[in-house]
Amino acid sequence: MIVLLMLAAQFIFVMSTHMPEVKSAFLPAQGHLFVACNVLIVIAMVLAEMWLRTAAQYHKHAVVSCGFIVSYLMYFVLEPFVDGAQMTLMMPIMISLIYFDRKLLHYLGIFSIVFYAAVYFGLERLVLEKPLLEFFLVECVFIVFVVMARMVIVRAWEVREHLEQLTKSEQELMVERAISDKLLKIDALTGLYNHKTFHEYLDSLLEQCESNGLHLQLALFDIDSFKRVNDTYGHWVGDLVLKEVAARVKGMIGLNDFAARYGGEEFAVIFTDKSFQEACVAVEEMREAISRMEHPYAGGKPITVSIGLCDYQLGDGKELLFRKTDNALYKAKHGGKNMVVTVSSTLQGTIYA
Ligand code: GH3
Ligand code: MG
Ligand code: MG
Repeated sequence: MIVLLMLAAQFIFVMSTHMPEVKSAFLPAQGHLFVACNVLIVIAMVLAEMWLRTAAQYHKHAVVSCGFIVSYLMYFVLEPFVDGAQMTLMMPIMISLIYFDRKLLHYLGIFSIVFYAAVYFGLERLVLEKPLLEFFLVECVFIVFVVMARMVIVRAWEVREHLEQLTKSEQELMVERAISDKLLKIDALTGLYNHKTFHEYLDSLLEQCESNGLHLQLALFDIDSFKRVNDTYGHWVGDLVLKEVAARVKGMIGLNDFAARYGGEEFAVIFTDKSFQEACVAVEEMREAISRMEHPYAGGKPITVSIGLCDYQLGDGKELLFRKTDNALYKAKHGGKNMVVTVSSTLQGTIYA
């Protein structure tokens, strides 16, 4: 784009001007430098473009070198037809702004100042007889450009640091939110979902049951004679037992099942992808596994649970589901504890003991 713009600008300039020396730039005898510079600019740009597209390395070097070559060639194209042609020599300094690189800016700044001194004393003063004042002025403009570019780079780094800080604190906030979200949903002692989350989840599951005909079973677990554990061995032992029983329940449910601490020593499990028979087998396995757990710190006696399990009947609603499950649990307690009592529309009774 730069090359095309430059060639178009030159073309318009040459066509619209009446200066004989400009017109003569196209004459083969006098215009060889003008034409050669333009051809070299095109070649340098094409080579740099090819390098950027094909090579993975040294992109910065390619851009900086090309910038240098093109800016000096442009200078030779413009000089002596345009006043202030030296401004094209600012291009390399501008390149350091592309990369926000302070070191590169200093190198390019010093190089430009030295290189222009060589151009002035080797060409402008000898051939074009330009006054020394112009040399000092151009060098001053170089220095001002470097200082301004440096300020832009410093500011860009400040903004970048600020953005990084913002992103970091945003990430920290997200982590904190995730943790507090989890804390809000999880029971601190057992690591199971808490009462509130259980009800939220059950509400949405029951809605899906009613609309999609999804199967669901609810099981309520209650640790047998838990008060005695607390009274005999202390609350902290009771806590330990609660933790271990909860971990066993959690370890035995499927990926699509949901376990929560419903109350003090009561747990609730929702089965979502099982038939009623499969759920019966699963809760019985849990009851048995819990009764086989060893608790040496609690007198070595087995800790057992009573379980009520209910198959959800479409149209029942949450309240009736709970009443039925609670009833089954009540029967398990009064049937002698350490047992599962089930309720379904087709089958109701005590199974396993
Ligand atoms: P049942 O077999 O009829 O269920 O008898 P139970 O003793 O388990 O039932 P009860 O409801 O009389 O007692 C429950 C006890 O659970 C009373 C309470 O101190 C205890 N408990 C409730 N939450 C916690 C807890 O977080 N930690 C401890 N250590 N004990 C708890
Ligand atoms: Mg209880
Ligand atoms: Mg109990």
